[in-house]
Amino acid sequence: MADERVIRLSITRQKDRQSKPYVEEFTIPYRQNMNVTSALMEIRKNPVNANGEKTSAVVWECVCLEEVCGSCSMLINGKPRQACSALIDQLEQSIHLAPLSTFPIIRDLMVDRHRMFDALKRVKAWIPIDGTYDLGPGPRFSEEKRRWAYELSKCMTCGCCLEACPNVNDKSKFMGPAALSQVRLFNAHPTGEMNKKERLKAIMGPGGITECGNSQNCVRVCPKGIPLTTSIAHLNRETTKQSFKDFFGSY
Ligand code: SF4
Repeated sequence: MADERVIRLSITRQKDRQSKPYVEEFTIPYRQNMNVTSALMEIRKNPVNANGEKTSAVVWECVCLEEVCGSCSMLINGKPRQACSALIDQLEQSIHLAPLSTFPIIRDLMVDRHRMFDALKRVKAWIPIDGTYDLGPGPRFSEEKRRWAYELSKCMTCGCCLEACPNVNDKSKFMGPAALSQVRLFNAHPTGEMNKKERLKAIMGPGGITECGNSQNCVRVCPKGIPLTTSIAHLNRETTKQSFKDFFGSY
């Protein structure tokens, strides 16, 4: 006998940045092992709402489908997380999907995470090894340090930590925990360390580390378990040391 169970979803939708949000309900046939992404794909195949009315397909962003790219972040039953790793069988129904509220809306569940990428540029979250000739072998890492750095490098710029942070909003310029943690990562690299001062200076200005209110929400929602508050505490010490160096004119 065919499985006649259904999945109920209510989705907060919005045509564009200017228009008003509204909620639309959908009912789709149940299949085992579905995630929120496959439920959204099902709606896209046949965009008809729960009242049987033809509607537009719901817009959302996705790339890797395996919780590595961070692009399918949204509020799922009120929690910021990725659609690809949210299994329908583990969610309370009806499932409510809404866009992350910290970022400007593009359409429906798709938001503009530009402020995160701008913050990464601002703190120079990379190792400058640009060159036209062979630079030779890179510096060696101890296995212990490599393992530690790998954990911080798992950040996928998903935006969940910014969504959970009360100090990130449209009235604040706070860059948020993700970019701060990347400063810690790149400053710890033997080559990246050459730009340590520049990165610290970048987070000492407006929108930087002093705007963290220590709510500790970020570390609770990070899907990669990145020790964000430990990174921020470490950078608080580093920026204090840098201010003393600046004051006494030393390096
Ligand atoms: Fe997402 Fe965690 Fe990176 Fe924040 S630190 S952007 S929650 S992966």
